[in-house]
Amino acid sequence: MTDTAAPAALPAAAPASSFAHIDTWIFDLDNTLYPAACDLFAQVDVRIGAYIAQALGLDADAARRLQKDYFRQYGTSLRGLMLNHGVQPGPFLDYVHDIDVSAILPQPAMAESLAALPGRKIIYTNGSAGHAENVMRRLGVADQFHAVFDIVAADYTPKPDAQPYTTLVRRHGIDPTRAVMVEDIARNLEPARALGMATVLVETNSPFSLPNPEAPPTALPYVQHRITDVPAWLAQVVTDLARGR
Ligand SMILES: [Mg+2]
Repeated sequence: MTDTAAPAALPAAAPASSFAHIDTWIFDLDNTLYPAACDLFAQVDVRIGAYIAQALGLDADAARRLQKDYFRQYGTSLRGLMLNHGVQPGPFLDYVHDIDVSAILPQPAMAESLAALPGRKIIYTNGSAGHAENVMRRLGVADQFHAVFDIVAADYTPKPDAQPYTTLVRRHGIDPTRAVMVEDIARNLEPARALGMATVLVETNSPFSLPNPEAPPTALPYVQHRITDVPAWLAQVVTDLARGR
C-alpha cells in the first residue's frame, strides 16, 4: 500500500483473504460497533465532565481540562481519577453511561454478517459491560457476541496499556495470531498487533476517535487495514470468505 493509492471509502481495502485464518473477532464498542455519526460519546463526554466537577469541586472549565489531560495521559479519564483522586469506579461508570442510546439504529444486516462470521466475536471496551449491553441491544446484535471484556474485567487498566490485552487473551483462550481487532483509535491497535493480532482501523471524523497519531495510518506499522463503514466491511468479508476467498 502507498499513500497515493487508498481512496478512503473502500470497504474492500482489506481483502477477505487477510481474514481467512481468523477465529476470534474482537470489536471495540464506541464509534466502532455503531457509527461515530450517532454522536453518542458526546453525551458520555459531558457526563464525565459533570462528574469530575461535582466529585472534585471544580468549575466546568477546570473539570474539562482535567478530563482531557487524564484521557491523553492514562487512556481514560477514570484511570487518572482513580490514581490521583481515589475516585471509586462503580458509581462513576454508572453515571457516565446513563445516556440516551436512541440515536443508534438497529442493524439487522450487520447482525446477519456477524452470525455468518466463523468463530467467536468479543467486545473489548474501555467502558462498562452495562453500556455495551445497552448498545448491543439497540443494534440488535447482542446474541452475536460471545463475551464483553470491559474496563472492570481489565481491572480498570484501559487500552492502550498492554496489560489488559494479555488478560483478555488469557481469560478467553485466544490465539492472537488467529484474532483480529477492529477499533477507531489507532493507538489502541498497537498492543494488539504486538501480540500478533491482525488490526483494522475504523476511520471516523469524530474528535472522540482522537488521539490518533499524526502519521497517516498507512505509515503506522501496527495498522494493517483501514475501513470507514463496519457493516459494509463485514458484509464484504462474509461474502469473500463464502466464495472461498
Ligand atoms: Mg472506540
